[in-house]
Amino acid sequence: MFIILFGAPGVGKGTQAKILSDRLGIPHISTGDILREAAANKTELGLKAKAIMNAGELVSDEIMVGIIKDTLSQDRCKNGFILDGFPRTLAQAEVLDKMFTELKINNINVLALSAEDDEIIKRLTNRRACKECNQIFTSQEIEGLTNCPRCNAENSFYLRKDDNEDVIRRRLAIFHSSTKPVLDYFINKRKVFIINGLQHIDEVTEDIVEKLKVS
Ligand code: AMP
Repeated sequence: MFIILFGAPGVGKGTQAKILSDRLGIPHISTGDILREAAANKTELGLKAKAIMNAGELVSDEIMVGIIKDTLSQDRCKNGFILDGFPRTLAQAEVLDKMFTELKINNINVLALSAEDDEIIKRLTNRRACKECNQIFTSQEIEGLTNCPRCNAENSFYLRKDDNEDVIRRRLAIFHSSTKPVLDYFINKRKVFIINGLQHIDEVTEDIVEKLKVS
């Protein structure tokens, strides 16, 4: 199954993508995770991307398209994948469509998670990530814990540099100006399922599962 998870930063794409990946047995492709890993490994790409990410700006289409082409052509992606964080611009969406045509993939499910900006700001300033498995938690969920509940890594929680309020506002502004048009592009071309991202995590998952008609 081929899934594109669309939505503003902080709406819960990563959380849902991980759940769906485990449930459907298809890889979770997060372009943000790929860039953060490159930054942690201090590769040339990572060093370039780090400052851009920390400022809440978008990494260039050229770089992102290169990453996505390399990733989606891997064997592990041939029976399906969940795209999280790509495409973020119309140019990326157009390239992705061409790739789908070349790879003869035509049953793509676009799931758009919705939420208001104010709620997103609250969520992002209150979230922590595990640096080992990239799982996102609310600070309440991990209060008093030293080990990650998902991968058991010790002392691995951190506040992402781009999760401070000024950067969040910048990321949201970019989402509205550059990324939102991608949704209209999809709506004109494909079936798009809109899901209320403000519900409890389990309810969002159930809505998705219902729409995809899987169990
Ligand atoms: P995310 O983890 O999806 O919120 O992504 C974190 C950051 O990585 C974004 O704020 C961008 O700086 C960068 N990034 C991730 N995916 C893309 C993309 N498709 N296009 C441009 N920049 C991206």
